[in-house]
Amino acid sequence: MDIPRIFNISESAHRIHNPITPEKLATLGAALRLEPGAQVLDLGSGSGEMLCTWARDHGIVGTGIDMSQLFTEQAKLRAIELGVADKVTFIHGDAAGYVSDEKASVAACVGATWIAGGVAGTIELLAQSLHTGGIILIGEPYWRQLPPTEDVAQGCLANSISDFLLLPELLASFGRLGYDVVEMILADQDGWDRYEAAKWLTMRRWLDANPGDELAKKVRAKLNSEPERYATYTREYLGWGVFALMPR
Ligand code: SAH
Repeated sequence: MDIPRIFNISESAHRIHNPITPEKLATLGAALRLEPGAQVLDLGSGSGEMLCTWARDHGIVGTGIDMSQLFTEQAKLRAIELGVADKVTFIHGDAAGYVSDEKASVAACVGATWIAGGVAGTIELLAQSLHTGGIILIGEPYWRQLPPTEDVAQGCLANSISDFLLLPELLASFGRLGYDVVEMILADQDGWDRYEAAKWLTMRRWLDANPGDELAKKVRAKLNSEPERYATYTREYLGWGVFALMPR
């Protein structure tokens, strides 16, 4: 079981697989007023940066589930590197339908809401693992400006304009699902650059080292086109944020 190999290649050097920066991740951890010993569940935990740094900085304990074997291995190594291997557990697996035995103070899905069929389904799934008074974290894109055409939405690698909402609409949608929005941290274009542009050097180095690989042609084509595509579409049109929610 694994995610498509192209992501394990292009994001192999990423600690954070999203446009949030280490600084903003730290700001989010502080904003949530995490108590030592608080249980944090993270579905789609990637390379584990959120759980590992929050374990180091706030003494949380956590479990992360991710379908990428590589990212999960990297998360375990990061936990050792930060001295928190006794506080965090990383499981390689499918997070679809995952409900924890022990209820969490924070139940998160940061940039992987397809796991439960979208934002609403993911909130519903996370709610099943949440302690009374706990906080759900959803990391999700939104439109900074509405794409004028479906072609522009597809340039942002969305299927259609209807995939995402404008920020006020996204915030309102949480209310309609019965949740208070109690905090939010928004990515900016510099953060997008750290997520997207960091893939380019990784792809270039991978190509130099693996010229005969079956994916080399695809990676080469991506490296040729990604900088211009990204600057034209994603960087201009797509916003991204982590939203903290509590049931009303
Ligand atoms: N939250 C992390 C990773 C976000 S990227 C961070 O912010 O860094 C999305 C992650 O979802 C990737 O790590 C990918 O491997 C993982 N993923 C995709 N489908 C999944 C599934 N069905 N179950 C668990 N993880 C999944």
